[in-house]
Amino acid sequence: MRSATKVLRDRGRRFLPLRHTKTSNVTERRFDALGLRPALLEAVAEAGYTSPTRIQSLAIPPAIEGRDVVGCAQTGTGKTAAFALPILQHLDADAGDEPCLRALILTPTRELAAQIGDAVSTYGKHLDLWHTVIFGGVKDKPQIKEMRRGVDLLIATPGRLLDLMGRGEIDLRDIEIFVLDEADRMLDMGFLPDVKRVIAALPKKRQTLFFSATMPPEIRALADSMLRPDPVAVNAQPVATPAEKIAQHLYFVDKRDKRKLLLDLLEEEQDIERALVFSRTKHGANRIAKVLDKAGIRSAAIHGNKSQNARTRALDGFREGDIPVLVATDIAARGIDVEGVTHVINFDLPNVPETYVHRIGRTARAGASGIALSFCDDEERAYLVDIERLMGRHLDRVDDHAFLAKAPPPPMTDLEARRGGSSGRGPSRGSTTNRSAGGRGGRRGRGRTGRRSGPSASR
Ligand code: AMP
Repeated sequence: MRSATKVLRDRGRRFLPLRHTKTSNVTERRFDALGLRPALLEAVAEAGYTSPTRIQSLAIPPAIEGRDVVGCAQTGTGKTAAFALPILQHLDADAGDEPCLRALILTPTRELAAQIGDAVSTYGKHLDLWHTVIFGGVKDKPQIKEMRRGVDLLIATPGRLLDLMGRGEIDLRDIEIFVLDEADRMLDMGFLPDVKRVIAALPKKRQTLFFSATMPPEIRALADSMLRPDPVAVNAQPVATPAEKIAQHLYFVDKRDKRKLLLDLLEEEQDIERALVFSRTKHGANRIAKVLDKAGIRSAAIHGNKSQNARTRALDGFREGDIPVLVATDIAARGIDVEGVTHVINFDLPNVPETYVHRIGRTARAGASGIALSFCDDEERAYLVDIERLMGRHLDRVDDHAFLAKAPPPPMTDLEARRGGSSGRGPSRGSTTNRSAGGRGGRRGRGRTGRRSGPSASR
């Protein structure tokens, strides 16, 4: 493996504290104006992207320049390309004959890691670079084998990464670009200490791209501690703003009637083609899937206790339309990117209002419209208040359904009142880190614009 230590160019920036960093508002509407190489432009065009999303317009040019970027963006905004394209460009610019681990993307869940790996395969299809994905919950041998063969870019979840680092299988000393993806989710999942250990093993001189959907104080402090003092701050709304694109209906229902209401909706509503049902707990998700099965509705549950194979199978079935209903916990669903989700059904309301926004963002992808149906029992009414205040709007109450709660509906939420203190962050924790997947594209005789000469999955 190559062991060249790259020296980052001196970028001669003025050093400003993060809190003084200005957010750029200039958005470029054309990919070819962002400074990307032809091989990347070609891949992006082949992916069907006609113009960059806001986060891509804002983040790609400074990232290509070598600046640190701190981005407030969630899944669905196109942020993967916003960091993956500059990384690929940087790696490709001075790749040697042999792969050398020069870029690391740290992400909290196995699904996100796998998705990022797929995206890198897509965007890097015309480049001769190697990447791999590692996460826990699966055998480590294939991952170790891949690492020993050499990669340019590694996508990893924290636990397995630290494990392999501890065993001397991964060395981060040549890392030039580091991406911390979904930083706030890392915090929610209790990964912050692991993340800090990874950061401690990185070279001080490096470029960092930092992404988080929200910026609670701990995350801002983390960003301050790990970014150079001159980051470019970018802020992106999801491709579809929930308030505009998603019809949001609310069903007051007694807890014991929730399953009947779900069945009723799935059986009666003709337009529910592909529904993602959210449960707060893993057991709840299993129970819901069982009830649906009994009623002859094809479904699958995904959560942290499911094997990686079962999760992949469920997701594939859902993507391909074989399984019309996927029941998920928040952590398992994080980052799931499936087109054509017509309905998000909140069987349980989340106790963290931001989670509601993430959940309903699974529908109305890529500008399509979508529908969110939320069940609210007696105990969840306080969560509803938090959600409505965060959204700055009332959900549309459905008051003529068959399972209306016995108790009268609560008064409309006062949207102006200060938000209450229900900020116990984080849904129940799934299994920690995740599975492995290959997704290698290869060097070996670096072709110019031609496709990789090596096989694309695993060597
Ligand atoms: P992400 O936020 O990176 O998970 O991306 C969300 C979805 O948007 C993925 O399905 C991407 O393939 C898609 N996407 C990303 N960038 C663009 C773009 N510029 N135009 C159209 N779709 C995009």
